[in-house]
Amino acid sequence: MAQSSSNSQLQPLPSDLLVDLRSDTVTRPTDAMKAAMHAAEVGDDVFAEDPSIRALEARCAELMGHEAALFCPSGTMTNQIAIQVHTKPGDEVVCDRLAHIYNYEGGGIARNAGASVRLLHGDRGRFSLNECLDNINPPDSHYARTTLVAVEDTCNKGGGSVWNLAELEALSKEVRARGLAFHLDGARAWNAFVARGQWGDAGALKAYGHLFDSISLCLSKGLGCPVGSVLVGPQSFIQEAHRVRKVMGGGMRQAGSLAAAGLHALEHHVTRLADDHAHAKQLGTTLAAHANVASVDPVETNIVIFSLHGNHADTAVRALAEVGVGCFAFGPDKVRLVTHLDMTSGDIHEACSRIAKARLIGPQA
Ligand SMILES: *Cc1c(COP(=O)(O)O)cnc(C)c1O
Repeated sequence: MAQSSSNSQLQPLPSDLLVDLRSDTVTRPTDAMKAAMHAAEVGDDVFAEDPSIRALEARCAELMGHEAALFCPSGTMTNQIAIQVHTKPGDEVVCDRLAHIYNYEGGGIARNAGASVRLLHGDRGRFSLNECLDNINPPDSHYARTTLVAVEDTCNKGGGSVWNLAELEALSKEVRARGLAFHLDGARAWNAFVARGQWGDAGALKAYGHLFDSISLCLSKGLGCPVGSVLVGPQSFIQEAHRVRKVMGGGMRQAGSLAAAGLHALEHHVTRLADDHAHAKQLGTTLAAHANVASVDPVETNIVIFSLHGNHADTAVRALAEVGVGCFAFGPDKVRLVTHLDMTSGDIHEACSRIAKARLIGPQA
């Protein structure tokens, strides 16, 4: 994406595109989800009177072992609200250089919170405790005040990489012992829960939730909802977040049908993420065997990133679109594919055979 001049990833794809692996955001609501949305009871959510939104917020808070939650239009907004509540202008936020909050939120940390960012160089988005602690400024007036550390689990730009639980526990303990807040960008936390075997284990999920002072969860990625993210945290934090949401223009009225989609997805679309992970592994194996592919990042969840010999990502994306497989360039020599709810095992099988036959570099036939 860095090399593209404008929103090249948003260009329309050939209408005969067979397997759309550009992102897990391209999913459409299932008939069962639409029925749940249609049946939703609604009210004015700015007055906290929408019963479906309240139910979704309560469910997410309870899942993560926190007191409260706030439904928002996007994951960018939940992250940006959290950053604004945790920091004051002039403070510094510590995160990995691959973080969504830094790369893909329009410079919002500076623009919305007036905070600076210290970037760490982790392993596919996962930084070490030592590197983190080395980058927390001492309490000397020369320095920006470090007030927030943020992690992303799974890490999108890290290729869907999953954090190690013990490392998160150590980070949480040391970061909070220094009086800093610890935020989770959990846009794809569901994939991490399934990959680590935490989903279905209420105690494990709560213990995980307790590691953080705030958690952003997206419903519109792997869970297949049309819209929505949920910010989770203590009551006092959510009260403040409610105010910031209003300031950002994110207060919605009778949006309960969107929350009903979320409740439906939590019930029916999390366990099945294991299928997406298996599909991603199949794609990874196919790509690793391809003569034009230099390497494939380890496939841990539903994202596959592969590298080419040389800066041919745009060519490869075009070549794959020609054989009916949609994906994104993710750097000059890297391509990303994402598996999701709308892709069956048959679709993935077909995609693999087409990818195997495609010529990914040089002039196309
Ligand atoms: C998609 C995503 C978000 C939020 O994106 P929105 O499109 O604003 O909902 C945040 N963090 C990560 C890691 C993401 O992949």
